[in-house]
Amino acid sequence: MSTTTSGLVQGYEVVIGFETHTQLTTQSKLFSRASTSFGAEPNTNASAVDFALPGALPVMNKGAVQRAIEFGLAVNGHIAESSVFARKNYFYPDLPKGYQISQFEIPVVQGGAVEFFLDGEKKTVRLVRAHLEEDAGKSLHEDFADMTGIDLNRAGTPLLEIVTEPDMRSTAEAVAYARELHKIVTWIGICDGNMQEGSFRCDANVSVRKPGDPLGTRREIKNLNSFKFMQQAMDFEVRWQIEQLEDGHAIQQATVLFDPDTGETRAMRSKEDAADYRYFPDPDLPPLMIGRDWVEKTRAEMSELPRVMAARFVADYGLSEYDAGQLTQSKATAAYFESVAEASKQPKLSSNWVMGELSRRLNESDKGFEQVPVSPARLAALIRRIHDSTISNSAAKEVFDALWNATGAQIDDSGASSVVDDIIEAKGLKQISDAGELEKIIDDVLAANAKNVEEIRAGNTKAMNALVGQAMKATKGKANPAQVNELLKKKIG
Ligand code: ADP
Ligand code: MG
Repeated sequence: MSTTTSGLVQGYEVVIGFETHTQLTTQSKLFSRASTSFGAEPNTNASAVDFALPGALPVMNKGAVQRAIEFGLAVNGHIAESSVFARKNYFYPDLPKGYQISQFEIPVVQGGAVEFFLDGEKKTVRLVRAHLEEDAGKSLHEDFADMTGIDLNRAGTPLLEIVTEPDMRSTAEAVAYARELHKIVTWIGICDGNMQEGSFRCDANVSVRKPGDPLGTRREIKNLNSFKFMQQAMDFEVRWQIEQLEDGHAIQQATVLFDPDTGETRAMRSKEDAADYRYFPDPDLPPLMIGRDWVEKTRAEMSELPRVMAARFVADYGLSEYDAGQLTQSKATAAYFESVAEASKQPKLSSNWVMGELSRRLNESDKGFEQVPVSPARLAALIRRIHDSTISNSAAKEVFDALWNATGAQIDDSGASSVVDDIIEAKGLKQISDAGELEKIIDDVLAANAKNVEEIRAGNTKAMNALVGQAMKATKGKANPAQVNELLKKKIG
């Protein structure tokens, strides 16, 4: 079995729900003033609160709440006027308080949805909730012989845990969801999205069932921190569960880990129930009250969201939803496209070029849209020359290549048109627009290919292609193929 985008896997329907921990971009921790910066000496970014010294009390970080509100608005969720922090009790060395402060019954963000395209089809994944919680510390097993070191730098780091309904029906859809969520949180700037550093960690809940059956028992793959591993882990898990069921074994609910070395998932522990955590409201923290004025102020100050921007591209530029979705993959992509579209007044051609030739070249050279060596003004100038039929599409690729390799391409936007025109001139790429000149060439082609002309008159339309080819060759590719076609038809009659 390989990746499936829809439909059944060996007669089974795949069901996936995600829980994602996004680390928020605050300078300090959720309930203390210690720094959240990554990579500091162990236990230097930890305060009395993070060490759980007796008597130390948590104080809410307003910036974390601000980011939760921004997320809620970005996914069209409800922002609770009053939400509650709860203690999630468990014992682990890297959790000195003996409990994690999280939100249980009343989370700060309720509902909402994430929308994206998969193979041209629109998907909507409903969110159950997003809640604020603190991260745990880290156990270090490597540097100490027969001992475990505890680093509490990460303890208390603010996380927003985002939970979906079990809405996804294939592993590819789940990865597409994760990519979209990653795009949203980095776009609005509440998370840096750095997956290697653990700023964006996904738990994938996976089950399978026969179509029409109730939901199957799920296993939860913990801490997936790359899109590639995510895909591999879920594909393995689906295969494994189907194999178990086919062999007559029931699936036991469990928490599993993915091992990138073997490509397999392995049970870590049987899954705890909520009751095991003995949740109760944290008496150290009053309910989190968010006034509507705060929400509305945030809404007014937020920059345009990717899905709003995509809708605008559809309405204003006449682009397809798919194209608009692609162009809003990142702020840099969207900004580049808009500059080209504005300057060229040709949004569709701009979209084709940005997503086609330009994206291809960027991929090839492992560059992002922040590093495009061709300024938007220059690409716009090129597009204007395609639009006014000065050059053909294939000639335009040659010009683009020259622009790509030009030095100092980003500067001197004022001269963009002349730069492009000079390249067209120097390479002799101008299309033949003089009708008389073209007619003469075509007359010669007709005279030299009398047999083809006979065949066309006898009804063999394929022979036409050969003539167009001859004419293009005679003009060294500088004729407009549509114009050649038209002239040929007229002359053959
Ligand atoms: P818990 O309270 O044990 O964490 P939840 O009901 O909150 O369980 O669900 C956790 C995640 O598991 C959610 O993302 C949800 O969509 C997903 N999920 C629940 N049931 C299933 C299932 N049968 N198959 C796949 N995912 C599921
Ligand atoms: Mg849950």
